[in-house]
Amino acid sequence: MSYEDVKKVWMNGRLVDFADAKIHAFSHVFHYGSAMFEGARVYKTRSGPAAFRLDEHIRRMYHSCKVYRMEIPYTPSEFQGAIFDTIRANGYEECYIRPVVYRGLGALGVNPFKSPVEVLIAVWHWGKYLGDEAIEGGVDVCVSSWNRMAPNTFPAMAKATGNYLNSQLIKMEAITNGYTEGIALDSAGRISEGSGENIFLVYGGKILTPPLSGTILPGITRDSIITLARDAGFTVAEQQIAREMLYVADEVFFTGTAAEVTPIRSVDRIPVGSGKRGPVTERLQREFFALIRGDADDRYGWLTPVPVESAVSARE
Ligand code: PMP
Repeated sequence: MSYEDVKKVWMNGRLVDFADAKIHAFSHVFHYGSAMFEGARVYKTRSGPAAFRLDEHIRRMYHSCKVYRMEIPYTPSEFQGAIFDTIRANGYEECYIRPVVYRGLGALGVNPFKSPVEVLIAVWHWGKYLGDEAIEGGVDVCVSSWNRMAPNTFPAMAKATGNYLNSQLIKMEAITNGYTEGIALDSAGRISEGSGENIFLVYGGKILTPPLSGTILPGITRDSIITLARDAGFTVAEQQIAREMLYVADEVFFTGTAAEVTPIRSVDRIPVGSGKRGPVTERLQREFFALIRGDADDRYGWLTPVPVESAVSARE
């Protein structure tokens, strides 16, 4: 990945050069992981660049901050405007968006209240997260020896940077053992999610996915796929799923802003179904990609056009 074409980063109300996008070594976030973040995408559509479900991403950001008692010093519409300014300042038609709300330079010590809440917005080009071949060919994954956090330990509904230490353990173990990704179980041994993706199984004609019961991130792609699948006539059940279902399911796939919809072709070296992308996964991918690229009618209002004229250039 290269950041060579990143020109500007939005930091606390100002667009600064990439080289100047720095935070102080004494910032609370660096010592205690006190940051909430988001990951959204802008796609190039026939009618110009459009952000996918940006309102939901911004809402989740505010919810994550609420759990951690962090007050964002901007309204959601100012936040959205800042995101658009950042995209425009970098001249992107397609990109990944990464807002971060963090505790800055104040007082060190666990107590976060003495450190100010600060905001940065980074954007960059990000291709296929799990590899170019993955979307069609699928990925090989393992069940991790690391569990996802138990309810009432780290709140899984909050997209907090600290949660991603657990994700890194899952990811490193998977890569070290020759897999692309790991699937974590919850503390009761049921399927939870990937290190940065939600998971779906197709079994006996039904689509199954773990419930929002405190061990998974409420994925916006997850919600989109549930909506698309139900509208296409599939039965989708949000329910607890035993580990061994991964080995006997007809199809398994990941969803996420970065991973989009990625088929899983084997789990712990056991082929999933025929060991290739299955028909339900393919159908849902087709529907999903048509929508995000603006090739299908935006029937759910999921695309927000990125305004051509940014607030910044209008002011200048
Ligand atoms: N679970 C985890 C742990 C994640 O990091 C992500 C990526 N944000 C997801 C699920 C998928 O969420 P979304 O579809 O909103 O990107």
